[in-house]
Amino acid sequence: MKIIDGIYQLLTPFPQFTFEDAKMLRQQLEAHPRVTKGLPYVLPYLLKDGDDTVLVDCGWNTDSAYAALEEGMKEHGSHPSGINKLVVTHVHPDHYGMAGRLKQLSSCEVVLHEKDAEVITARYFAPRGLVDEMAKFMEGNGVPPMDTSGMSRGSMGMIGNVAAVPPDTQVKGGETFKVGDFDFEIIWTPGHSPGHICLYEPNRKILLTGDHILPTITPNVSINTQTHGSPLGDYMRSLHLLVDLDVDIVLPAHEFEIHDLTKRRHRIEGHHEERLNEMVNCVDAGGSTGWDVAGRVKWATGTLKDFEPHMQRAAVGETLAHLEFLFEQGRLAKVMRGNHLYWLKA
Ligand SMILES: [Zn+2]
Ligand SMILES: [Zn+2]
Repeated sequence: MKIIDGIYQLLTPFPQFTFEDAKMLRQQLEAHPRVTKGLPYVLPYLLKDGDDTVLVDCGWNTDSAYAALEEGMKEHGSHPSGINKLVVTHVHPDHYGMAGRLKQLSSCEVVLHEKDAEVITARYFAPRGLVDEMAKFMEGNGVPPMDTSGMSRGSMGMIGNVAAVPPDTQVKGGETFKVGDFDFEIIWTPGHSPGHICLYEPNRKILLTGDHILPTITPNVSINTQTHGSPLGDYMRSLHLLVDLDVDIVLPAHEFEIHDLTKRRHRIEGHHEERLNEMVNCVDAGGSTGWDVAGRVKWATGTLKDFEPHMQRAAVGETLAHLEFLFEQGRLAKVMRGNHLYWLKA
């Protein structure tokens, strides 16, 4: 779909969808964008001007996602083999999964932030170690010991749909690149992922937000073995980085385009403020683990004890991101008791 001349929105489906499903999703998105909220597809963007063909994000490395990408590019007179540059907003499999396949086809320059480049090996080439590390980390936060063989199989299944490749260019944020007449600036927006980037085109007032800002979903911000410091603190600061940008069109990597960046930013900030207050109230006077707190807060999808193990880990990771931010703000303290981390009211 054309956003403006030279900027086109494509759609690639998640692995559970076929190429035909993707076509239907595309039609739905064009006719009734809001109906598609939360649906599992990725929106890569094709930037095309003169001899430059740049793709921002790609999708999972499945044949149906590739077919959808190829078809989408064809509509705008391009083909994946003609990509000069692939800019990946962050290393999650739905954004980066097809990078290796596209690199092989087109010899394109793959661009990724250095903080996300750091985790490629652990995430995609040596996942077994990551699973064991994660199990230990979760136990330290009060999560009952789990059978990690199932987790390991789960992550191997995911990796089957990723063609990982090291980036040719690692960025830090602040760099600019040209696509014909467009001038794109790379903005480092850590939080959802340590190396997440947004792309800003000041003349056309267009902001590509990846997963940093989505129209109805608040992106998952969580603590795991690959995060350092306070990801939620980073995320809130990254939201604030966008305050002074003059933006008419926000192009996210999921759901649909939006126009009121300030309103959406305030909604997301409000959501996290509420969540922070809720979490602080769930900490016992004598101290609580991340698992205790995750078991007390409300989840839109049910109660923690009924979740599948991988959802429980995700909920604990998200809880820990809030607890760490409360610690950073001086509202909570933390202490190790044996092998377990406890949070206390400050
Ligand atoms: Zn993501
Ligand atoms: Zn995503």
